[in-house]
Amino acid sequence: MDRLLEPPAEAPRLTVAITFDSDAISDSVRRGDPPVKLSHGEFGPRVATPRILDVLEREAIGATWFIPGHTLETFADSTAAITARGHEIACHGWFHEDFSELKAKEQREILGRCVEATAKVTGTPPAGNRAPYWALGPETLELVEAAGFRYDSSLMADDYHLYRVRHGDRHSVEHGTTWGTPGALVEVPVYWALDDWPFFEPGPGRDGLSTPAKVLEIWLGELHYAYEHAPGGLLTVTMHPECIGRGHRMTVLETFIEECKSLGGVAFSRLDEYVDRWLAAGS
Ligand SMILES: [Zn+2]
Repeated sequence: MDRLLEPPAEAPRLTVAITFDSDAISDSVRRGDPPVKLSHGEFGPRVATPRILDVLEREAIGATWFIPGHTLETFADSTAAITARGHEIACHGWFHEDFSELKAKEQREILGRCVEATAKVTGTPPAGNRAPYWALGPETLELVEAAGFRYDSSLMADDYHLYRVRHGDRHSVEHGTTWGTPGALVEVPVYWALDDWPFFEPGPGRDGLSTPAKVLEIWLGELHYAYEHAPGGLLTVTMHPECIGRGHRMTVLETFIEECKSLGGVAFSRLDEYVDRWLAAGS
């Protein structure tokens, strides 16, 4: 921990949160995927994570790692290396389940199992949860709040500012929309263009093999806009080790960090620490 950059005494002009979803083979195990898909996931903890951890250590940056329970236990050495370097571990399903397809009871059981497994590794209950695929059922975030999480990171109703998750929104074509009530759970917003996966991994409707330059153009555009127009804000980027950890894509991570550091007043933060500062400020 003492190797990491301390937050500046004065509030930074912009905070950047570097986050990783360490899916590894969790979803492939659930789906019964063939060997090539499994090996693609295995690349994450086996090759990419050590590579990424070295960059973060060199740059003295603490990151947040959303890790499915299956990854946490199956790649225990990788998990230990992440915690030993002072990073945050947060939850991301057990087998990277699609929570929008599960009954409330199943979701509650998975969340409880993830909290327990993460606490066993880190010594404290996890602060954060990110829904796999950012897929939520109507009651999922109430269950996340009830499971004791302080923040979720799966929604998009803001870009550079945290907000409280509302519960009980009602939408219907007959009666329109009735807004619910904000609860205790804090939202750390995400967005597809700030996620490496859609650019770099083949999938339905996309080739998924973008050049790093295209992604950098978008991410640096967000960085400069947030720096100019969202003082005191938070810019969160989402990466997957098996994706960003390929040689030619590591330049995206390295150049992005370099550019952040070249702007005066940009700090990096783990999400739990940023959320706790936000809460302590009485937001
Ligand atoms: Zn994921």
